[in-house]
Amino acid sequence: MKIYNFSAGPACLPEPVLNATQKAAIEYKETGMSIMEMSHRSEPIVDLFHETTSRVRELLDVPSNYHVLWLQGGASMQFAMVPMNLLSNTSTADYIETGSWSTKAISECNKVAKANVIASSKQDVFSYIPKEYKQKIDSKYLHITSNNTIYGTQYKVFPKVDNRDGCLVADMSSDIFSTPINVSDFGLIYAGAQKNMGPAGVTLVIVREDLVNNELDHLPTMMRYDTHVQKDSMFNTPPVLSVFVVNETLKWIEDQGGVVSIGSSNKIMSEKLYAEIERNTLFRSPVAIEDRSTMNIPFVFNDDSMDDNDFLQFCDARGLKTLKGHRSVGGFRASIYNAMPMEGVDALIKAMQDYEDR
Ligand code: PMP
Repeated sequence: MKIYNFSAGPACLPEPVLNATQKAAIEYKETGMSIMEMSHRSEPIVDLFHETTSRVRELLDVPSNYHVLWLQGGASMQFAMVPMNLLSNTSTADYIETGSWSTKAISECNKVAKANVIASSKQDVFSYIPKEYKQKIDSKYLHITSNNTIYGTQYKVFPKVDNRDGCLVADMSSDIFSTPINVSDFGLIYAGAQKNMGPAGVTLVIVREDLVNNELDHLPTMMRYDTHVQKDSMFNTPPVLSVFVVNETLKWIEDQGGVVSIGSSNKIMSEKLYAEIERNTLFRSPVAIEDRSTMNIPFVFNDDSMDDNDFLQFCDARGLKTLKGHRSVGGFRASIYNAMPMEGVDALIKAMQDYEDR
């Protein structure tokens, strides 16, 4: 039976990527060694990092005044590194709270500086993206979460930063490479790899040159962007295997026609599933129509007394896995990242229809 993994992350990866990884795990590029045994200082691995970085630059059309970094510690580490590097203890930043991940980013900022929460949809269980707010005049950056993995909301238009010296910072962990973006609209973008880009263990940071501060001697070395810029993301032993898988995933994205083409198929795939949620008498979407994510699609039973586990087991028996909604929302969540094939979504739609008929 074909298995479709709807997990929110770590998430399904394209089959050619898994095959290439299997091969490299045994032997990398006729070296007689597994990629996991190779020094990060060796030529093939230095080349791999350069190649992966070039692919990011090409696919997202990253301007030359931005650095591309491969870091560890996940997006969660960036919750702290961003304010540590971009703020001083007298400056502040604006945050829009659109879900648990932005709440965590706010909390980390408040440990090192001050976060102004200028808008929040918490009161409405993060079912929409707030659009009315006033930015603080002297704020150094405005932080957003571009796609809210748990609640299934996504920015369709990014906010403009009012302050001339400020910039937009985005956590794009769950929608990077899902559609084209204009990198120059941002000062800094970060994303854990384990959804659209590869496995856990590596985090992509794209940061504008002028935001990399070389005078942060009070910070631990590993927490400074300039450390990683100067050492080409090899200040310490980097997660080589994770970067290899990212490189293979980016190759696969290129083979699909790049982010424009990926973006159109993600749109078609998500619209198909939303249409079934609307049509089906059993289910509904808890998310505001205009903010619905193309990546994470939560849905719930119309009738609270119905048993979620029964539908989950029904799906599971058909090879449709990991559809349980996040514990804070309940119900179901279909995460349909880039690597989810249309057949997976069709199979889920069929299961929803058969369950309704039953
Ligand atoms: N931000 C978002 C939007 C996420 O979805 C996640 C993980 N699910 C995180 C941050 C945290 O990422 P990590 O586990 O890599 O620290």
